[in-house]
Amino acid sequence: MKLKIAIQKSGRLHEESLHLLKKCGIRLNSGTGQLKAEADNFPIEVFFLRDDDIPQYVEDAVADIGIVGENVFYEKNRKAKLIKKLGFGKCRLSLAYPKNKSLQRLQDLNGKRIATSYPFLLAKFLKQNHVRAEIHEISGSVEIAPSIGLADAICDLVSSGSTLLTNGLKEGEIILQSEAVIVANKTLSAAKQAILKKLTFRINALQQAQSNKYILLNAPNAKLEKICAILPGMKSPTILPLAQKGWSSVHSVVNENEFWEIIEELKTQGAQGILVVPIEKMIS
Ligand code: ATP
Ligand code: ZN
Repeated sequence: MKLKIAIQKSGRLHEESLHLLKKCGIRLNSGTGQLKAEADNFPIEVFFLRDDDIPQYVEDAVADIGIVGENVFYEKNRKAKLIKKLGFGKCRLSLAYPKNKSLQRLQDLNGKRIATSYPFLLAKFLKQNHVRAEIHEISGSVEIAPSIGLADAICDLVSSGSTLLTNGLKEGEIILQSEAVIVANKTLSAAKQAILKKLTFRINALQQAQSNKYILLNAPNAKLEKICAILPGMKSPTILPLAQKGWSSVHSVVNENEFWEIIEELKTQGAQGILVVPIEKMIS
């Protein structure tokens, strides 16, 4: 029994999707460029597809799970379950307006034409906001539509905004924040669910590791109590005596969000020789 996973054949999500599987310890036997690859150390089979097709393949159970952008997943509106956000392929679906026109915000779009590759999500957004505009669906190079007179504004994916700028456009309202996600067929067998659980367990371990750092420091014994109170650790900090009398080495795990504040406090409490080390996997 193997879990069939669909990932993008080539494009922005391809590398990171493969890299994720690799970091989960999954070794694929054939390179890219092929339609299919198998792992020799995990019950998984990888299909390389166009991202637009992935939601449908997952709904139809041609693939059991897939990695796609939320933008594609919600646009295609297929029956599949969102399992996990993956933290890469971040972008947003936004409206954008020509810089030098009077048209500047959503309410100005009444009676106008908007070019997009996301007609479903755009229509929903316009309806929610009581704007009546004509949606002009095009499959690529949406950003040039206003300059060639095809549309008055566009709705497209943005990450840095540089593509908009070079086309004389300005980002407006954000319709959707998106990142790559795992989606799954709604009726996976128990055996396949078990494989998926194994996979998500590994991904969770990677994600936890990424948002935490291992920290080592030296502290005078007299200050240990105060220093340990600052450091949470997974259970509690590890304390080891140093060869030098009266000093200890303290080890702990610190969340990235609190990291700099904790370092400041540690220094004030007399911690020295602070080392911060990345964590590869973390299982709590
Ligand atoms: P395919 O040939 O598979 O249809 P594509 O041209 O539709 O590829 P890509 O441009 O490779 O797709 O983008 C794939 C996904 O990467 C997007 O659907 C989106 O989720 C994500 N992404 C992240 N940043 C951006 C960006 N700045 N522009 C477009 N997509 C982005
Ligand atoms: Zn695509």
